[in-house]
Amino acid sequence: MNKEIPELYGSMIFSNKVMRKKLPKDMYKALRKTIENGTHLELDVANSVAVAMKEWAVENGATHYTHWFQPMTGFTAEKHDSFISPSGDGEVIMDFSGKELVKGEPDASSFPSGGLRATFEARGYTAWDPTSPAFIKDGTLYIPTAFCSYSGEALDKKTPLLRSMETLSEQAVKMLRLLGNETVTRVSTTIGPEQEYFLVDKDLYNRRKDLIFCGRTLFGASAPKGQEMEDHYFGTLKPRVSAYMHDLDVELWKLGIPAKTKHNEVAPAQHELAPVFDTANIAVDHNQLTMEIMKKVAEKHNLICLLHEKPFEGINGSGKHNNWSLITNDGVNLLNPGRTPAQNIQFLVFLMAVVKAVDDYADMMRVSAASAGNDHRLGGNEAPPAIVSVFLGDELTAVLESIENDTYFGKQEKVQLDTGAHVLPHFVKDNTDRNRTSPFAFTGNKFEFRMLGSAASVSTPNIVLNTAVAEALAQFYKELEGTKPEDMEKAVHELIKRAIRKHKKIIFNGNGYSEEWIKEAKNRGLYNLVSTPDCLPQFIADKNVDLFTRHHIFTKDEIFSRYEILLENYVKTILIEARTMAEMLTKDFLPALNAYAGETARNAGMKKSFLPTLATEAEEALVTRLTEVYASVTDGTAQLLSLAETAEETGDMQQAAQFCRTNILARMEELRLTVNAAEALIPDGLLPYPTYDELLFSL
Ligand code: ADP
Ligand code: MG
Repeated sequence: MNKEIPELYGSMIFSNKVMRKKLPKDMYKALRKTIENGTHLELDVANSVAVAMKEWAVENGATHYTHWFQPMTGFTAEKHDSFISPSGDGEVIMDFSGKELVKGEPDASSFPSGGLRATFEARGYTAWDPTSPAFIKDGTLYIPTAFCSYSGEALDKKTPLLRSMETLSEQAVKMLRLLGNETVTRVSTTIGPEQEYFLVDKDLYNRRKDLIFCGRTLFGASAPKGQEMEDHYFGTLKPRVSAYMHDLDVELWKLGIPAKTKHNEVAPAQHELAPVFDTANIAVDHNQLTMEIMKKVAEKHNLICLLHEKPFEGINGSGKHNNWSLITNDGVNLLNPGRTPAQNIQFLVFLMAVVKAVDDYADMMRVSAASAGNDHRLGGNEAPPAIVSVFLGDELTAVLESIENDTYFGKQEKVQLDTGAHVLPHFVKDNTDRNRTSPFAFTGNKFEFRMLGSAASVSTPNIVLNTAVAEALAQFYKELEGTKPEDMEKAVHELIKRAIRKHKKIIFNGNGYSEEWIKEAKNRGLYNLVSTPDCLPQFIADKNVDLFTRHHIFTKDEIFSRYEILLENYVKTILIEARTMAEMLTKDFLPALNAYAGETARNAGMKKSFLPTLATEAEEALVTRLTEVYASVTDGTAQLLSLAETAEETGDMQQAAQFCRTNILARMEELRLTVNAAEALIPDGLLPYPTYDELLFSL
């Protein structure tokens, strides 16, 4: 097997190697130019690529092709067409044209459009993204595409991402020119998303409606053991899990997804997969595929992969760490602290631009991670907090302080002091500090955004980050414009100084989970947007609308439509949860509880009729307790359903969302606590659904 891996790797993608082999030289060159520089692709090139792609796909067993896109559902969508085309004599040929490659026309009316549908035409179209490789899966050629309405409004998560990458590249190149770099022509965002997930047995899963409909348990008494022994993180993989991970790797490798690291996570039954980083839009496509394949491979092992942010109460939930950096087309990581003063100037400008971006648009960063599922992590007592702050580590913070105060630093260990004439200090990279409580941490040569939920597309946070950094760079550019090259170091020094003073409030190297930080953050004037309904209105705040429209990432209509979709999604999720909870309580929990109360009462009665002096106080107390719970849960369930109805009838989405959060979730939490306490009294065998013990410890 091992020898075969290099051959297997990427065998199902229309790779550069395949392109070179299958395409005429001039066509290959034209396609590479489009991929690398984003230049327009002529129809003759598209035709030639289509022929090569089809030939390769058919050789590899494909009969169909699909434009693959990422509508606002957060999932991917596909509509398969076969390659067959009648040749006129009752026969068929396998055919695929450049036009079919470049453009598709799926009906857009059944995808969430948040009102855009009403304003614009129902027809939508998909447009090939040649920068992300086509691939074969289950006998179909998948062509990554962007999805827009007929009048050009983005209806997906790829279009704005590509726009944001473009904007950021433009601003970054401009800045590099100003700093004296004459060679770079393009700057790309790189992303490495670390993906957390849970694995549970499929037979157990199938007996829990909450897992089936909501992806998370809505109640369940804690197992006697949770994560307190800290024995799961990086622990030995159980054979079934190990077999799963192996199969998963192979499937991902075939698609050229560089799955690299796999390990057990903190919570029982929780695991993580991390790929080697890639260009943003490819990494986003790959993460979507990874999530899909994780689920598919799990089923083969009679497992279910849970991507929900909080499948189980009382143990850690799952997130997705978005590692983010900038790379030039000549291969330089702009967030790598350099060895020379010139490199350091560059590094400090880009570093400060990110700090500024996150400070100015901290609210949008929070919005980019908002979902009903993720609220259980960010708003709860779990990693990371809902307050956005930036961790830089002690060394880098010291460097910035020395710039701010015009004091040369150099007394600290490990820090190299540049004693020359250069104004900026010269330092080595700090890669030892690992603050795990920060939502946005500098980790040596990249930033790691840790707020994202495990089920989310990584697209949105990167759209926000790219755009906000582009804006910060544009503002810095204005401040430095016109500076003579010989004065540049000094000017950058002054710029950094001003920027630190303005933005140091976002820098926090301490414990993000502590109570003191919440107070401190408030004093500093930072946002603490605890829940999705709290933060979503920031999306339509003037300053954010201004940012996105100015950089042509979203039109105002697109922003409002996305805002509407996010709200709607939140409300729908909570309503599904409320109804699922009511159903499970009514049909599963209450009958089990009633049966056990009846059985206990009958047993006590039998004991009494056998020997009247036998003490049955314990049974009586239990029956009384169970009966009280029966009444209170019956009542609570009815109230929950009535609250759900009220929410549904609320016309205003923002109001409905707030109502869901303050009324429905609170009622669900009360019910959860009551049910959990009662569950602990009922024998597992009498419950028609598996308990936490079984779900978390049976693999
Ligand atoms: P951690 O300690 O957080 O696990 P790693 O060094 O293992 O850190 O990296 C985690 C992720 O960061 C991996 O997916 C890796 O590919 C990604 N990564 C590394 N360098 C970069 C970069 N320059 N840009 C984006 N992602 C990166
Ligand atoms: Mg990490």
